[in-house]
Amino acid sequence: MTLPPLTLPPHLARALATRDAPGPPVHAVEVGGSSVQSTVFAGGTVEFAEGPRPAADPGPFGLAAPGLVVDGRVRGATQLGWDDVEAWRELGYPRRPDVSMNDADAAALGEWLLRAERPGSLLYAGIGTGLGGSLITGGEVVDVPLSHQTGFGEAVCDGCRAPGCLNARIGGQYLPRRLDAADKRRVVDLLATAIGRAGVPRGTVVVLAGGLVRRTHPDLVAALRSRLGGAYSVEGSAAPAAAKSAAYVGLLDRLVGEGRTG
Ligand SMILES: [Zn+2]
Repeated sequence: MTLPPLTLPPHLARALATRDAPGPPVHAVEVGGSSVQSTVFAGGTVEFAEGPRPAADPGPFGLAAPGLVVDGRVRGATQLGWDDVEAWRELGYPRRPDVSMNDADAAALGEWLLRAERPGSLLYAGIGTGLGGSLITGGEVVDVPLSHQTGFGEAVCDGCRAPGCLNARIGGQYLPRRLDAADKRRVVDLLATAIGRAGVPRGTVVVLAGGLVRRTHPDLVAALRSRLGGAYSVEGSAAPAAAKSAAYVGLLDRLVGEGRTG
């Protein structure tokens, strides 16, 4: 599916247009629990494609995955069966990515960049196979204790293995496929409690996204908004519907972005 470059913030559209030349295209790969998506920039357009795009001589590329992601190596992404994996090799690439990021960090940065009015502070909470959380303050990724915050009962998450982990309660792999009204209340309650405990500054824009929210339960956005009661503004994803998440924007920003104004 090909979309106009409105799927990119202007500074990235400009940067990519000036680099667009014959040869392997710039692309971003997002690995998730249920699918892998590549976002390829070529011929002035952005195309979302299923699967990775390895080539003998790949163009500049970025990689996002759950877990601790450093230089293409992924640790602790148990929902993928990746305890410690050279993800680029696993995906068939002949070399390490030029940029690699945790998927929630990349999506948070992408959500921030896709907004015409960039908020001073943006919290991304993504419910997919796992729960991802990341805070952007002043345009930079800041650690926030959200996805593996403890104090939520006894359940143990496969990733951190700490009892009472929030991910073990509301990560998608620990939830029923279809949430009933009680499940939704529980997800929203626990998430709101965790946001309060995480020290997220008041006035922060909270983006509630991830596959479970965007594809199956978009009504969770309004439910969280009313539960948080005005302390934060709660929004859905600004990523195009065809995109797995806004992570491709965060990756492309790290790959080619300069001068984020406008
Ligand atoms: Zn955990």
